Amino acid sequence: MKTFVYSAHGYEIPFLEKAAEGKHDLFFSERKLTAETASLASGYEAVALFTADDASATVLRKLASYGIRFIALRSAGYDHVDLAQAEKFGIAVANVPAYSPYSIAEHAVALLQALNRRIYESQVLLQMQDFRLDTLVGFDIHGKKVGVIGTGTIGMAFANIMKGFGAKIFGCDPVQNPAAQEIGMQYVSLDEMLSTCDVISLHCPLNDSTRNLISKAKIMKMKAGAILINTARGGIVNTADLLDAIESKKIGGACLDVYEKEKALYFEDHRRDQINDQLFVRLRANRNVIVTGHQAFLTVEALSGIAQTTIANLDHWEDAQRSPNALNNVVPSKPVRTAIFLQSSSL
Ligand code: NAD
Repeated sequence: MKTFVYSAHGYEIPFLEKAAEGKHDLFFSERKLTAETASLASGYEAVALFTADDASATVLRKLASYGIRFIALRSAGYDHVDLAQAEKFGIAVANVPAYSPYSIAEHAVALLQALNRRIYESQVLLQMQDFRLDTLVGFDIHGKKVGVIGTGTIGMAFANIMKGFGAKIFGCDPVQNPAAQEIGMQYVSLDEMLSTCDVISLHCPLNDSTRNLISKAKIMKMKAGAILINTARGGIVNTADLLDAIESKKIGGACLDVYEKEKALYFEDHRRDQINDQLFVRLRANRNVIVTGHQAFLTVEALSGIAQTTIANLDHWEDAQRSPNALNNVVPSKPVRTAIFLQSSSL
């Protein structure tokens, strides 16, 4: 299938090419999908998108007018796609619902321990030949209360690792996971979790019910000194409220792989730019905040899984079949088969 791959990055292209095995005509572009770049997909049947791409109603309307009939998301999250509008325009959308949950869960743990055990600071001191330990005191995870908001695939992988550390695990989710019993996870209300847990990790999707779930009222309920981890989606947390709580030492700190305004920054080279996002400047300046640029998924296993499912979605549509990962009810019709070639570009 003739597919325009937006937001294509060097780290993922080899995995997509390998999974495609020459079956599809993939055109890779570094450009993000926006209202301005939608026309680049003119003449293609499908687009493949990542999380920073804009698939809002306006952009979908443009894509439809250029003949796009399929959107293959290279992500589990689909909060950046207006699914109802896609259906209205007859565009089938499918995602990658599951790929190595360990990649994200292990990154959440890496962030937690980097902050807790002051790994980054210790390296800076070490480089300066300052071997004093006074600013590097952390705490044992063993015996601590760890809360997991969203006990689905990634949340359970994180919970299992924390269980291995010897923590007591608490879950909060409208749907209880039967696997929680195996590790003695106890389900509690969000307020109970906030007031009792030493570490809280977010693993729920971003949707209308979770947008700004963690804002001032909830943060004020958190246990003094607690650490919040967010590897889910930036929009779940009100960053300004979070920073206020950390700066006033109400809570201990935050580990953030995602950030509510990340679309303007992440996945691009801004070395020559002045960053005017004051919230982000504040985040970076705080020694009790550790930030990574949405890289939790960045393992060989996860990239391979994402590529295989993305290509499998294209395979289904090429055969006029509904993808098992379909997110809306558009029934694909048989597309015209096109020449098979692979091409790269830095469009
Ligand atoms: P999943 O569907 O397996 O689990 C999500 C869980 O959240 C479900 O059990 C659901 O019931 C629960 N949930 C929904 N609303 C909730 C609420 N209001 N409160 C508590 N729980 C709620 O999804 P998953 O594969 O575990 O992925 C979770 C999220 O992680 C994704 O939606 C995505 O946004 C994020 N993610 C981030 C990265 C990254 O690189 N940082 C990579 C992959 C996924």
